[in-house]
Amino acid sequence: MFFRTFAVVLIVNRKIKVLIYMINLVLFGPPGSGKGTQAEKLVEAYDLLHISTGDLFRFNMKNDTPLGQEAKRYITKGELVPDSVTINMLKARVEETPDVKGYIFDGFPRNINQSEHLDKILAERGGQVDGLLMLDVEEKEIVARILNRGKTSGRADDNDEEIIRNRFQVYQNETSPVFDYYDKQEKSHKIDGIGSIDDIFARLSDVIDSL
Ligand code: ADP
Repeated sequence: MFFRTFAVVLIVNRKIKVLIYMINLVLFGPPGSGKGTQAEKLVEAYDLLHISTGDLFRFNMKNDTPLGQEAKRYITKGELVPDSVTINMLKARVEETPDVKGYIFDGFPRNINQSEHLDKILAERGGQVDGLLMLDVEEKEIVARILNRGKTSGRADDNDEEIIRNRFQVYQNETSPVFDYYDKQEKSHKIDGIGSIDDIFARLSDVIDSL
């Protein structure tokens, strides 16, 4: 990837502002499409910080924090956690990490409102979403993969086919419009999510390197 890690110096209201150009990617796709697996590989290859809202919620649920207790009510039903909770959590995580070269957002944004907030949060840092990479996998394959993962993941939302189908439904109704939102800005890319982990990684890297 052509890493644009240069600084832009601006004078705003007679104050000098230094903006470091970041690269921010949204890893996108239905539940079980392999985002977490690919994010791990991308972090290593591109030196970006991975923020997974699902992982943040699971950490809070495991530690039984108030945020975890609130999130659990929705996650166990396969519904989205309310934006008021999710957006503040994401914003706090971004603000905690001012010195990164950029982010890989995984599981966020999951609806249009979250997309608009993400754009604002990044704009405050002089950044933007540079590319959305969608892993394309059909529902039948998704359900099989998640049920298989449920045997070892210990995730309450991975074991019940009805909950999994609900997650897929929520994805189609609320989340898939996020692809079109960034597509209008010519930032969305669809990648075939079927194949070996390395093949899919190579497909993702080709797109990132062309950004
Ligand atoms: P997957 O993509 O495999 O479904 P995640 O780990 O990304 O799993 O998310 C697990 C659950 O956490 C989701 O089903 C949802 O309930 C909740 N969640 C994660 N990210 C968000 C988000 N951005 N907005 C609302 N809820 C979220």
